[in-house]
Amino acid sequence: MIPRVTLRLVKTSSLEVFWDEGIVVRVGETVVCLDPQTSETRYTHVFISHAHKDHTAGFLIWKSKKYATSSTVDLFEATSKRKVSNLRRIAYGEKVKVKDFEVTAHDSGHILGSAMFELDTPEGVVVYTGDINCVNTLITSAANPVECDVLIIESTYGSPGYVFPSREEIYRNMVKWVVKKIHENRVPTFYVYSVGKAQEIIKMLNEFTEVEVLIHPTIARINKIYDNLNIKLEANSLISAQKNDRCVIVYPHYTFGSIKSKNEASAIATGWSLRLKKENAFPLSGHADFKQLLRFVEETKPKKVFTCFGSTIRLAKQIQRKLNIEAKPIQNKTGMKH
Ligand SMILES: [Zn+2]
Repeated sequence: MIPRVTLRLVKTSSLEVFWDEGIVVRVGETVVCLDPQTSETRYTHVFISHAHKDHTAGFLIWKSKKYATSSTVDLFEATSKRKVSNLRRIAYGEKVKVKDFEVTAHDSGHILGSAMFELDTPEGVVVYTGDINCVNTLITSAANPVECDVLIIESTYGSPGYVFPSREEIYRNMVKWVVKKIHENRVPTFYVYSVGKAQEIIKMLNEFTEVEVLIHPTIARINKIYDNLNIKLEANSLISAQKNDRCVIVYPHYTFGSIKSKNEASAIATGWSLRLKKENAFPLSGHADFKQLLRFVEETKPKKVFTCFGSTIRLAKQIQRKLNIEAKPIQNKTGMKH
């Protein structure tokens, strides 16, 4: 008798998280790419966390479906002067279905419109933070932890030396410096990121001083997006206004050195200032510091953590040591090009 052969198809699916020119999450046939770093990616569903240039390459992938918050899209279009197509705008708290995944955007507190993404997959909940900030600022609200099985967290300041003073203290020091420089007949001039940092500094100057704020036309263009959302920023473009004795100027950071004028007293505002310890370098950051990152991990209660961007190895080691949670930097999938 000929034995009967039975073919049994076993459908297995498991969660994969890896780096392939961006963060890729896959379960079976469902795959999404988060913050692709190149417009060459082959993934058909891409999520863009926020409008900073190092996260927006995905907007340029014409064949992929793009997902981002409205503010992120508007800020990208204002800064790049490009129009995004094949796009799905998503609101905080809204759920979108991508095959077997349900994806929710949450406020990540980093800049206007910045999102972290919660991916509800058949194999558990995955959260990707994008860039996060865990304190309230004059413009943004702190990111709230989202409980998950797998957390993919940014680690820009994932090194133990990076613990920032309170926001209030930083604002106070910046305002004091501005007043001091004006009394010295200098023109305080901040060189900062055009999206996010510039607006926070303008708001701070509006709230705590009476000085006129003059801004580079690029920043003026971005401020219009804030204005559309009723976030009022009182500042005049340098095209239409004249410098005077009692003004503060806010320029994009990349113009430093190219437009220095006499009487200028320049300053920077970035978390890296902690290393510089200079009177004119302020640790005003849109990112969580080391302690806040650890607390955020603890509160999301993940079984596994992947670190990305910045001090990935250091943060992963600290998470393992201090929280006893399995953690490692996100890595290439074996055999995939990087
Ligand atoms: Zn950013």
